[in-house]
Parts: sequence; structure tokens; C-alpha cells
Amino acid sequence: MAQCSGSTKKGDRCKRDARGESPFCTIHQDQEIHAREPSDRGEWDNDAIIKALIGFAIIGFFFMLRRR
Ligand SMILES: [Zn+2]
Repeated sequence: MAQCSGSTKKGDRCKRDARGESPFCTIHQDQEIHAREPSDRGEWDNDAIIKALIGFAIIGFFFMLRRR
């Protein structure tokens, strides 16, 4: 049997066996449905927040340099 392609809440690879026709185990079958959707809203939001924080950090860094 193949290993499940899903991931746990901790982000680790699922160690359960996948069900015959599906690459996911019974617990992670919902991840297969999400993977087929155009975009994962939760992940996109986290990505946008991280990019915004990096942007603010860079802007803050340049303001620090200009004050000297
Ligand atoms: Zn799984």
C-alpha cells in the first residue's frame, strides 16, 4: 500500500496507508478535495501576512538607515 500524501496539523507527512484508489488515508481525504480547489484561502492569507511583515521590516530598516 502507498503512503498517504496528506500532512498532519504539525506539518509532518502522514504515516498512515492510503486507501486503494486515493493517495490519501481516510483522515486526510478532505485534503484531496482542498488541493483541487483553485486556491487555499487560509494558506494564501498567511503568505500575504508574512510578505506584509517582511515589507514593513524592510521599510523600517531603510528609515533606520536614513536617520543616521
Ligand atoms: Zn493521512
